[in-house]
Amino acid sequence: MVVHLKWVAGPGVSESDIRHYDVVIAGGGITGLTLAAALRDTSLRIAIIDQNQPVAVSDEYSLRVSAINHAALRLFDEVGAFEGMVKLRVSPFREMHVWDSTGVGQIHFDSAELGLDTLGYIIENNVIQHALLAVIEQADTIDWLCPAKIASLELNHSLKRVDLDGGKSLTAHLVVGADGANSLVRQAMCIVLLRRPYKQQAIVCTVATEYDHQQTAWQCFLPTGPLALLPLQNGQCSVVWSLDQAEAETILALDNAAFAARLEQAFEYRLGSVKAVSSRAMFPLGHGHVDRYVQPGLALLGDAAHTIHPLAGQGANLGISDAACLAKVISEALQARRRWSALYTLRKYERSRKGANQLMEASMTTFKYLFGNDNPFLAELRNAGLNLVDHAAPVKQILIKRALGGI
Ligand SMILES: Cc1cc2nc3c(=O)[nH]c(=O)nc-3n(C[C@H](O)[C@H](O)[C@H](O)COP(=O)(O)OP(=O)(O)OC[C@H]3O[C@@H](n4cnc5c(N)ncnc54)[C@H](O)[C@@H]3O)c2cc1C
Repeated sequence: MVVHLKWVAGPGVSESDIRHYDVVIAGGGITGLTLAAALRDTSLRIAIIDQNQPVAVSDEYSLRVSAINHAALRLFDEVGAFEGMVKLRVSPFREMHVWDSTGVGQIHFDSAELGLDTLGYIIENNVIQHALLAVIEQADTIDWLCPAKIASLELNHSLKRVDLDGGKSLTAHLVVGADGANSLVRQAMCIVLLRRPYKQQAIVCTVATEYDHQQTAWQCFLPTGPLALLPLQNGQCSVVWSLDQAEAETILALDNAAFAARLEQAFEYRLGSVKAVSSRAMFPLGHGHVDRYVQPGLALLGDAAHTIHPLAGQGANLGISDAACLAKVISEALQARRRWSALYTLRKYERSRKGANQLMEASMTTFKYLFGNDNPFLAELRNAGLNLVDHAAPVKQILIKRALGGI
């Protein structure tokens, strides 16, 4: 794939230190690239900026994977990127099994019960990025500026300016902050994201298991935090293990054999013995939500606007839905010849997404509290609740349909 490593002259644009675009997207993670791909058929001139190139896809699975739901898969398909992901590597999961380690509560979801082939796919974040970039590459209205680091932004005028490290600048009618949890765009908009740390870290790694994962996403709620084993196409599992800070550091430092032993035990040997097949990495966990997503000529999406606990694997899915919604609102305004970067247009995006994102954040925080609590009354309540929902087909269907982003 071609990555534009330096200033790339677009059609009819001469080389200079200031380049003008209609839209500048800060951040070429999953969210920013999804937005660019979804806008590829508009007439807008778009630049996406990222300081890092996506990690190359190698034989070994990347440690960063996401459980991608049906709503996100539909969008990837619509923009023509899903095929590219399949060619690179995707792992379907057909069932989901969730249980409480302190009791008998459990819940099981099966795609067959919903008349679906899968509940979703486990896809490496870099696979998603490469497939979206391959689509974007076909659009001669989009420039991918990478590696390029945004140093500062001047957002007070109707034409916004983005200054890059090294002296080049871009101007645009719309600047989109898809630059992650520490968003520079958000800071320049003077919007505060009150990120509340869970005082937990997620350890991620890849393991081989004795028993087949059965294309099932497994999640065990331990008093110390949720532990997920997600099925990969080659039979291995991707692990996301949330733990309090001190315990996470201890477990991260274990040698492979000791780590595997702790993991098997925590996972109640459901997949038999475990063998570590990758290095381990650790990510701090927290949640937060901005109160405004938009200002005139400015919009925030994905982790720049909201971060949540990964226990239900929804962060990237929410960002992808944000991107789809913003692209739709802009495209409709263009078709109707309305001002596509004006506040009244962007507010439609905010109105459409903020409530859904807030609901998901509140649900994850409640889950985290309910399952991370050793109060015996709460333990009994959650076990009874899990079993009750497991046997109440209509409630179960509502829950799973929401997690799948609507089917
Ligand atoms: C352990 C873990 C497991 C997870 N599992 C799931 C899951 O199963 N399903 C799911 O849906 N979500 C999951 N998530 C959440 C998901 O990973 C994030 O929500 C998602 O990656 C956010 O994407 P983004 O594009 O909004 O932000 P980011 O991925 O943070 O991308 C931001 C981009 O902006 C660039 N950038 C930032 N600042 C600058 C600058 N100044 N100049 C230039 N470029 C800049 C960065 O280089 C980066 O590429 C998980 C998260 C964690 C921590």
